Amino acid sequence: MIGARPAGGSPFGYVLRHSPRSRHLRITIDPEVGLVVTVPPPTRRGWARPEARIDTFLRERETWVRKHLARRDRERAELIARGGLADGAAIRFRGELHRLRIAPVAAARSTVARVVSPDGFELRVLLARRDRDAVGRVLERWFRGQALVAVEATVADHAAEPGVQPAAIALRDPRSRWGSASQQGRLMFSWRLVLAPPEALETVVVHELAHLRVFGHGPRFWAVVASRRPDHLVWRRWLRSHSLELHGALGEATVLHERGAEQTSAG
Ligand SMILES: [Zn+2]
Repeated sequence: MIGARPAGGSPFGYVLRHSPRSRHLRITIDPEVGLVVTVPPPTRRGWARPEARIDTFLRERETWVRKHLARRDRERAELIARGGLADGAAIRFRGELHRLRIAPVAAARSTVARVVSPDGFELRVLLARRDRDAVGRVLERWFRGQALVAVEATVADHAAEPGVQPAAIALRDPRSRWGSASQQGRLMFSWRLVLAPPEALETVVVHELAHLRVFGHGPRFWAVVASRRPDHLVWRRWLRSHSLELHGALGEATVLHERGAEQTSAG
């Protein structure tokens, strides 16, 4: 369930979500809708009228919320200034800003090509008729393909020495993590890592591969990570400070993802 709420006694306006799976009050900053407060359903004991609890919670964390809302506004303004997904806009790929060039084409399938021209980097999208209103989907498909190539190559670079091979590699689009490793050796990565600098993608790959050797985040784990990427903290920081930008990079895809997430949490 989702509903906009006026600010009332809270220092901020926010979107309220009831999630059957949530046990506590949780706040997140969504690149599209801003501050989101998630609470257990009103039928759970103590959560029938959560407003006062939310107001107190938000007042206690006012500095944190203000800081992150300001960052989101800055990143949104920057994305809008770059031109969204229009012809001539700038979009990040492998850490570098690329000029987006969009042209209609009579072919049956749309294609994307990365071109290095005297003016800099370009992503040239040749749009088939059926994709005319879906540049974001065409780009996402291409980004996912590129992400798989980049992740598999990086895994191959690093998996030999630790002597462990992942059982499977999957690309997804999670909101709150860049990668994960299951105890069965399955690795998951966000395809959006391909938008970040290669060093950031490599940092996440090294991290998840290290989990195949060491469970948890103890000193032994961090020693393995640091042996492969001594500067891993720099790239973690880069990903944290660009998280909203990368998640908002293809506006329409983000909206679709949100709708999907709502359906999942309601079911
Ligand atoms: Zn970890």
